[in-house]
Amino acid sequence: MTQTTSRPSDTKLSQFRVKGEIPVPMLIGWLTLAAVPILLFFAWRSLDRGMPGSAIALIVFAVLLSVNGIVYLLGRNSTLQRRGFITAITILFTYLAINAVEDGSAIIWLFAYPPIIFYISEAKVGVLACSAGLTGVALLFSPLGDLVFDSPYSTSFRLTMLAVLGFEMSTCYVLDQSRRRSKLGLLKLAAEFEYAAKHDALTGLANRREAHEQLETEYQRYLRNSRGFSVLLMDIDLFKSVNDNHGHQVGDETIVMVARTLQEHSRKVDTLARWGGEEYLVLLPETNTVEAVKTANRIRQTIASTPIEVQDGNINTTISVGVATIHGAESVDRLLQRADEALYRAKTLGRNKVCDFETTHG
Ligand code: GH3
Ligand code: MG
Ligand code: MG
Repeated sequence: MTQTTSRPSDTKLSQFRVKGEIPVPMLIGWLTLAAVPILLFFAWRSLDRGMPGSAIALIVFAVLLSVNGIVYLLGRNSTLQRRGFITAITILFTYLAINAVEDGSAIIWLFAYPPIIFYISEAKVGVLACSAGLTGVALLFSPLGDLVFDSPYSTSFRLTMLAVLGFEMSTCYVLDQSRRRSKLGLLKLAAEFEYAAKHDALTGLANRREAHEQLETEYQRYLRNSRGFSVLLMDIDLFKSVNDNHGHQVGDETIVMVARTLQEHSRKVDTLARWGGEEYLVLLPETNTVEAVKTANRIRQTIASTPIEVQDGNINTTISVGVATIHGAESVDRLLQRADEALYRAKTLGRNKVCDFETTHG
């Protein structure tokens, strides 16, 4: 619970998933399930064609991917699963290209690499992996590669493969950037809506609905562990005359000034809300009446001693505060009613006062 829920940063937002987006661990799981039988099929073919070396290597990759999947299922460590999968497929694709498996045709599997890598890792990792991959293939296809490996690839295949792979990687990058930007835009919009639904537009404090939510949460906590809390119900004194004498604009500025003072005198755990026109509610968790009255008086004194500059001089505002502390099995509504009665008492006693229900009605 905080004074005002701040808007989340872009980095934090991008970690959320939007509806319909396939979770990375699930995608890796499906890819593993698809890859293992394919690898075993080609291993069997290699064996059949008298190439036990290739068969063993492909079986080893199938086992590695399966182990990676099982480790994830046991520990649910998605970072480990992602890193393990990226490492395994990077080595696998390098092996397929260098060893010219299936008469060199297995190198075509390289086209599966860019979309997978961009989806399951950050854009930066995708760019790095693809650049390294393309450079590796270029080296393999260069005269240098011919010195080291027995390459079955023709010159026209090499040129076409490099051009198409480069084209595919760039397209994947553009599509991935566009996907990430749309996702962030959607999440930002959702965050803005959520913020607007919970906050008052003029002061940025929680609105009445959000205050009710926080009161209910605090009340449930109180029922569970008996940690009491207090509420302050505040109302600007003779506010109508501020509007009448100085205009609505100055009235609004006064409302904002009181909100800022509340923020300056509150803890992070307190909930500050604009309860109505010129009324505020402060929820003070784990605070008894004595402490609540002290806080209320600090705020009251600061507001009374902070004049607001207007065109024709300064205006002084004061507030009246009603304090109530939860007790027994009373409801939140009853608590608010007691705070309201205490506020009414503060008004009738001459305003610019703090009254707590227990003292005035006890
Ligand atoms: P009291 O000391 O008894 O509380 O007197 P008061 O004049 O503050 O109380 P009253 O309820 O008579 O007047 C409240 C005024 O607050 C009336 C309304 O026009 C004004 N008001 C409510 N919301 C806003 C707002 O958002 N901006 C401005 N400028 N005025 C507002
Ligand atoms: Mg009022
Ligand atoms: Mg008032």
